[in-house]
Amino acid sequence: MEYELISKPGADEFAVRPNLDDYEGTRAAFDYERVIDELDGLPGGGLNIAYESLDRHVAAGNGEKPCILWESKDGRSETYTYADMARLSNQFANVLQQLGVEKGSRVFVFMDRTPELYAAVFGTLKAGCIIGPLFSAFGPDAIRDRLENSGAVVLVTTPKLKAKVYEVRDDLPELKHLIIADHAEPPEAAEGELSWNELMAAAPETFEIVATGPEDPAIMHYTSGTTGKPKGAVHVHKAVLGHYATGKFVLDMHPDDIYWCTADPGWVTGTSYGMFAPCTNGVTSVIYEGGFSARAWYGVIEKYKVTVWYTAPTAIRMLMKAGDDVPKRHDLSSLRYIMSVGEPLNPEAVVWSEQALGLPFHDNWWQTETGSIMIANYAGQAIKPGSMGQPMPGIEPGIIDDEGNVVEPGTEGDLAVRPGWPSMFRTYWRNEELYNSCFRNGWYITGDRARMDEDGYYWFVGRSDDVINTAGHLVGPFEVESALLEHPAVAEAGVIGKPDPIAMEIVKAFVSLKEGYEATPELRRELIGFARGKLGPGVAPREIDFIDSLPKTRSGKIMRRLLKARELGLDEGDTSTLEDD
Ligand code: ATP
Ligand code: MG
Repeated sequence: MEYELISKPGADEFAVRPNLDDYEGTRAAFDYERVIDELDGLPGGGLNIAYESLDRHVAAGNGEKPCILWESKDGRSETYTYADMARLSNQFANVLQQLGVEKGSRVFVFMDRTPELYAAVFGTLKAGCIIGPLFSAFGPDAIRDRLENSGAVVLVTTPKLKAKVYEVRDDLPELKHLIIADHAEPPEAAEGELSWNELMAAAPETFEIVATGPEDPAIMHYTSGTTGKPKGAVHVHKAVLGHYATGKFVLDMHPDDIYWCTADPGWVTGTSYGMFAPCTNGVTSVIYEGGFSARAWYGVIEKYKVTVWYTAPTAIRMLMKAGDDVPKRHDLSSLRYIMSVGEPLNPEAVVWSEQALGLPFHDNWWQTETGSIMIANYAGQAIKPGSMGQPMPGIEPGIIDDEGNVVEPGTEGDLAVRPGWPSMFRTYWRNEELYNSCFRNGWYITGDRARMDEDGYYWFVGRSDDVINTAGHLVGPFEVESALLEHPAVAEAGVIGKPDPIAMEIVKAFVSLKEGYEATPELRRELIGFARGKLGPGVAPREIDFIDSLPKTRSGKIMRRLLKARELGLDEGDTSTLEDD
């Protein structure tokens, strides 16, 4: 299906382009180094993400502005100003220093989305340590792998979550301090534990930020594990230039915005865009401690009058599944700009949101390794549904062939980016060899396949590992999944290549159905016919299996490698990020 270009009337008011005039007006002229003029820096040429996020605003007289509007799981609201967050993070930085934790040490957090989590992240950065966030739904093995690989010396966790840590604590000789924090009740510290409340109460409220330079490591994030074992991507303080600039130009942040990023800080989106981009731009963020439900999410938007919303395709597909009546019961008129990241955004989802929410989702592309958004559909530009958009100013992506040469527009190839942007990862922790293998002919190879059209829009084809070779055609699973999603019965689809003696691989789809539809042989035939009509017989699935739900990472990405391993009866590999059924 051909989708129409979507542009929102009035979007120009917030368009990204006028702001770009400050940077001589063109994408090419955009110079990341100039961004630093808009930030403060530390005395002596230093740079610290936490200072730029919090203290800079306090120093400018904006300390009383709300930084976080926190909504607890049980519906309580609390407000934290920029001055509050600066003070709390100072205290935690003092705690680390008093414990003798040195610059460059790894400090991990394993907590729900409470204000303490945010204070711990910023405090760790102020102390010059490297912060490592773990998603609170991880099991003991996932925790052990990451703490062991990183050599973390401090872990901040909660009374509820600590049992999982105790299961593996004996395997972690480098982990010296276990700090227990609870937002609700100050817990008693047990033997071998430290109490967050006691430590914080004794810690001074001012702190001289440790002298960090632009190239000092600041944060490490393990990747989502969609294609294999998660890797610890390391980012430096200079990444803040990317957080700030993309917050301004892609997220289109304006001072009065109420912004909500739904990602958990256990994943890079939840720190780069749940903390650093909004805070460096001085906007007010909603932090919702609870999990997904369509009613609760629309309720958060209504209650806090969210204006800018950043979420992910898996959540959008769930909202679609919940039906168009649910948004109608809420006043969502505060929303002016909505975005998606993390997986390909099916064009159907863009068309749906235009109709059901009155706004199209703007897709953008980046990954843990890139640290900030690389390609985006901007607020003021027409969207081509199904496209990831155009490069962020100052970023040079390319579609390249096996030799590292740029291919013609319209041709599929490896999506690569010219190294050197500020938020580029500097290594995979303790795996320099793997890091070095990511570069070819002067390009960073992202592991994704894509093409660029004549207008300079980028289109996602698939992960290199997922591309299917069927009878001499290369087929990206995304295209097939998106076609299936256009059928009213289909809630989600995951597509793999199944080995075949004649065609090399055949296209096989796994489909979960919307409520009210039954998995019958007739429906299977109908779906195959439907896909053929859209894609042609060479690309349409030859086999379709119905399943209740697709295996996904805890960050919501379809794990095609697991569908394939299960289909072929092979070892499932690393499943530490697999969502519970
Ligand atoms: P791993 O590297 O461990 O397999 P992962 O690649 O899923 O996990 P992330 O860094 O969280 O880990 O995800 C980045 C990847 O997500 C991208 O490389 C791309 O494959 C996919 N992705 C993110 N945004 C988009 C988008 N807008 N369109 C298509 N794919 C996207
Ligand atoms: Mg990846």
